[in-house]
Amino acid sequence: MFPSFSFNSTKCQNSWHTPNTSVSHGAMAGGPGPAQLSPSLAAMSLQSSTPEALRVVNLLQERNLLPPTPIPAPTPCLPQDLQKVNCHPEVFRSTLCNIPQTQSLLNKAKMPLGLLLHPFKDLSQLPVVTSSTIVRCRSCRTYINPFVSFLDQRRWKCNLCNRVNDVPEEFMYNPVSRSYGEPHKRPEVQNATIEFIAPSEYMLRPPQPAVYLFILDVSHNAVETGYLNVFCQSLLDNITSLPGDSRTKIGFITFDSTIHFYNLQEGLSQPQMLIVSDIEDIFLPTPDSLLVNLNECKELVQDLLKSLPTLFQKTMETQSALGSALQAGFKLLSPTGGRMTVFQTQLPNLGAGALQSREDPNQRASAKDIQHLSPATDFYKTLALDCSGQQVAVDLFMLSAQYCDLASLGCISRFSAGSVYHYPSYHHQHNPAQVECFQKDLKRYLTRKIGFEAVMRIRCSKGLSIHTFHGNFFVRSTDLLSLPNVNPDAGFAVQMSIDENLDDMQVVSFQAALLYTSSKGERRIRVHTLCLPVVNSLSDIFAGADVQAITGLLACMAVDRSVTSSLGDARDALTNAAIDSLTSYRQNVLTIQQPGLLSPACLRLFPLFVLALLKQKSFRTGTSTRLDDRVFSMCQLKYQPLAYSMLMIHPSLYRVDDLTDEGALNINERTIPQPRLLQLSVEKLSREGAFLMDAGTVIYLWIGQNCNPIFLTQVLGVPNYAAVPENLNLLPDLDTAESQRTRAFIGWLRDQRPFFPSLHIIRDESQRKASFMQNMIEDRTESALSYYEFLLHLQQQISK
Ligand SMILES: [Zn+2]
Repeated sequence: MFPSFSFNSTKCQNSWHTPNTSVSHGAMAGGPGPAQLSPSLAAMSLQSSTPEALRVVNLLQERNLLPPTPIPAPTPCLPQDLQKVNCHPEVFRSTLCNIPQTQSLLNKAKMPLGLLLHPFKDLSQLPVVTSSTIVRCRSCRTYINPFVSFLDQRRWKCNLCNRVNDVPEEFMYNPVSRSYGEPHKRPEVQNATIEFIAPSEYMLRPPQPAVYLFILDVSHNAVETGYLNVFCQSLLDNITSLPGDSRTKIGFITFDSTIHFYNLQEGLSQPQMLIVSDIEDIFLPTPDSLLVNLNECKELVQDLLKSLPTLFQKTMETQSALGSALQAGFKLLSPTGGRMTVFQTQLPNLGAGALQSREDPNQRASAKDIQHLSPATDFYKTLALDCSGQQVAVDLFMLSAQYCDLASLGCISRFSAGSVYHYPSYHHQHNPAQVECFQKDLKRYLTRKIGFEAVMRIRCSKGLSIHTFHGNFFVRSTDLLSLPNVNPDAGFAVQMSIDENLDDMQVVSFQAALLYTSSKGERRIRVHTLCLPVVNSLSDIFAGADVQAITGLLACMAVDRSVTSSLGDARDALTNAAIDSLTSYRQNVLTIQQPGLLSPACLRLFPLFVLALLKQKSFRTGTSTRLDDRVFSMCQLKYQPLAYSMLMIHPSLYRVDDLTDEGALNINERTIPQPRLLQLSVEKLSREGAFLMDAGTVIYLWIGQNCNPIFLTQVLGVPNYAAVPENLNLLPDLDTAESQRTRAFIGWLRDQRPFFPSLHIIRDESQRKASFMQNMIEDRTESALSYYEFLLHLQQQISK
């Protein structure tokens, strides 16, 4: 129904919506003449300023396309004064930096138009404005921003709807310079990212306190994994760092075949366990004292955390009434809202929401379509929507060796703006790497900032509209996302269409506004504004293509396609995205026809990234993939900010046995080596070397059989290759220059993301070698094309 980039599995021309096909091929960037432009916009010269992006590359000839350093986001072609204040691409970026003037031009380009956001990212600098009047457009409610224009001292024109608004008296005073009469120098007009302290009209009720409820599986299986110890210790260690203030509340529920509440009322000498065994009709055994004030009842909470790991040691309970436990949690949190954290170690098999094993282990390596990617029941989605309505978000920690039907369980987090964590085969003894990950993730989870009772709205300039959202939330109205919790590690993506031609516009803007309650009980609004130029030729559209953003958005679209249609359809659609865009480039932009597979320089990595997606855990076929692992990978692609998704899609490979200080970074008096990025092919490995692969949530260190002895002794601390231990997850802390360099580099990589990637040291005989080698996506496997074969396939389809 939307005139959008249609993500088609078949190369059917009819299915592309082309409302206006009158645009000529390869039209020149005529546009409005300079006389019509404001002085600032007259400086724009789109044709000549981006020659590198449009340099023609023959992919079949140029085989070393991967740059040695990370690819920066393209810079939109804006006048310097606008560019200087534009939103940071890590927070807000578009798949196309040059916005097509019409939907028909967009359709012709065959690239998806969308935005990727990381709106609550931890920032080193954030201007915060306290002001009794927040200046917004009277017509479209856009916040005043760096891309509005001042007609004079007293009037500003909205950059989204063009309405002229009055400048309020208060805005004439600049609190930064303490001067009067320069409204264009206000912080709101100097910063694309800014936060407002909201006055009372931005709240429907007094700001809620921080409320944390932990729901813990204590079945026999759960006790076996030993996760309770780590959880309780971690919460004890971080209990004073939980975001909040003197009003913070906390509570606990454990469950197996029954639901156990804990009375933590002040004055009790020890916590009191209250068991509800009627799981069909969950009620709260006592009206208060289940959620208690953390400050007042800290000792009882600490007592409970110290005793919990031993409380169920001898349990024979094998059943898991997760659905009822969640219903209990919902009842408990409904009056206030808050965060529900759920730890689950098996398939729920009792009461409401019970699930059955749907995975056929024989189909894990199937080349045919993968079944059961969609939920088996609406139970978890319905409950999530109930939670969302009461400002309750649910985060799910899955720690399981067996199939848990994450496709069904994940809905509880997806629709309540929570997040899912997955630790397959978690075991306190047998899987130390997972234990370390769980510990580090918990620390981040418990101490990172959090916003409660949030909503986010994304506004676009008149003519543009958003038609599909990706991420974890509930869409309340067309552009309003309901976020019971907002966390700083969540990413979002949206797809857009052009409803009205942007004829008379040189630039368009996008503004995301996140309204939330801070853990200190303040209502705040974080606003990000992005400004992009409008173009009217296909060559300009191609020149502004952001290959990583396109890949990230396509990944989200492919996840949806896998669930609503089939994995086969999603895979075809991915391949067609590469074929169609390069075909359009060849037909509409290239002026001289020449043989080969031709791409503009800005898209030269597109086929590589599409192939990487096809071999990614989410979409691969023919390689054994557990259903929950696949579903979790899909969750991550939909929910992670682009920077982390890209590492999952196309890991970074480095040689690390010869690290030097040449070109190194210097951060906090530490020297961080910067080895060059290598292509993901076994050809790039050497038996004489050691190679580090950063795959986002996992880092592999592969040791060649004839590895440089200096690396073995000075970094790994072993005399020879044979002495490299199996299942090594930690580099020894050796006092050698080589060890310091290697650890500095790995530490720096880990610091770039909020979650903790585990390290796996791999020898040729290692069990984990397969998962390392599966990331060598340029090589041919039994069931998948090599990069070169894939290029030949694309060329064949394009020249058809
Ligand atoms: Zn407006």
